[in-house]
Amino acid sequence: MKNFDYVLAKDAAEAAKAAQGKNTLLKGAGTDLLDRMKEGVSRPDIVVNLLTCTDLRAPIREEGGRIIMGAATTLTEIAESPLLQKVAPGLAEAAGEAATPQLRNRGTLAGNICQRPRCWYFRNDTYACSKKGGETCYSIEGENKFHAIFENVSCNIVHPSNLAPILQALGATLHVVSAKDDKVTSSDIALKDFWVRPEEDISRENILGPGQVIREVSFATPAAGTGSAYVETREKASFDWALTSCAAVLRIEGGIIVDAHVVMSSVAPTPLSVDAVVAMLKGKAPSESLFKSAGAKATDGATPMRDNGYKVTLVAVAVKRALVSAAARAVGGAK
Ligand SMILES: Cc1cc2nc3c(=O)[nH]c(=O)nc-3n(C[C@H](O)[C@H](O)[C@H](O)COP(=O)(O)OP(=O)(O)OC[C@H]3O[C@@H](n4cnc5c(N)ncnc54)[C@H](O)[C@@H]3O)c2cc1C
Repeated sequence: MKNFDYVLAKDAAEAAKAAQGKNTLLKGAGTDLLDRMKEGVSRPDIVVNLLTCTDLRAPIREEGGRIIMGAATTLTEIAESPLLQKVAPGLAEAAGEAATPQLRNRGTLAGNICQRPRCWYFRNDTYACSKKGGETCYSIEGENKFHAIFENVSCNIVHPSNLAPILQALGATLHVVSAKDDKVTSSDIALKDFWVRPEEDISRENILGPGQVIREVSFATPAAGTGSAYVETREKASFDWALTSCAAVLRIEGGIIVDAHVVMSSVAPTPLSVDAVVAMLKGKAPSESLFKSAGAKATDGATPMRDNGYKVTLVAVAVKRALVSAAARAVGGAK
């Protein structure tokens, strides 16, 4: 691993100031970053540690009609939060399904959202793939079993975070601290607007630039009659990323779906909100057959490659199961 300077920041403002330099990277728990550094894929001159920032460790709370979480909240804290289990069980579920107990005990909310893709060509420093400035995406001709089946145009990575799709379905906002020279400002970014598609800039996955730190993440407290769920399919019971996943948030009033948010992940470079599925759900009574049709609808436009056609079937499965679970929670009293 290349030598680097190490900064212990005391809060988000100090971290943002320290992170303005060109080759400076932020570190939460480092479970993704350190892997990349050991693999030679990321070679920062300076690493800014965020775990020493007290404001990123603000507790999970409900305030002014919103659920607020510090960016360094661990996945275990999210999975085990009684508040989240009550108001957004799909979020607690997504955190509890990720990775392994050790990783969940350390990995942070913002680190999970910003973790970089697991494409084996990107992660292997011997492949100069297009994402790393090379001329080709090796997954087109190579091993593409785990790659994208939607929006796989110039780079076939899949978005890896469990938390991103359910937070997007819940309408989450990122609260970001930015530094420019000595000036520090705060801004809000809707999670749905956070992502960068490969066709926009193949070298990155989100809009954060140097000197920007996520301090908190929040979403409006779900209204009564709302149910949320996160469902994924994967090869192994643990220690594995999803093959396909779906986050669903449904609000049901008088036996009718009055609001719906459905976000698929692990199948495209960014989490995908599926408006066509939402359109077919709204105004209808929830039923197994409706949700099965919604699962089938979600596969429209899929462009699988040689080895990942199986994902098309698994998309339909994940979407249907997430909708069934969200609807049961909506009518069952849990929000
Ligand atoms: C074997 C294995 C299986 C896994 N399975 C899953 C899985 O099923 N689902 C899943 O979701 N994840 C999975 N993971 C990934 C794991 O959950 C992430 O590595 C972890 O959540 C990242 O959190 P971190 O705090 O360690 O991030 P770090 O490694 O510290 O950071 C990751 C990235 O986020 C950026 N970052 C961190 N904090 C901030 C901030 N506050 N503001 C701006 N940028 C920030 C960093 O600069 C870095 O680029 C798995 C990992 C392993 C090793």
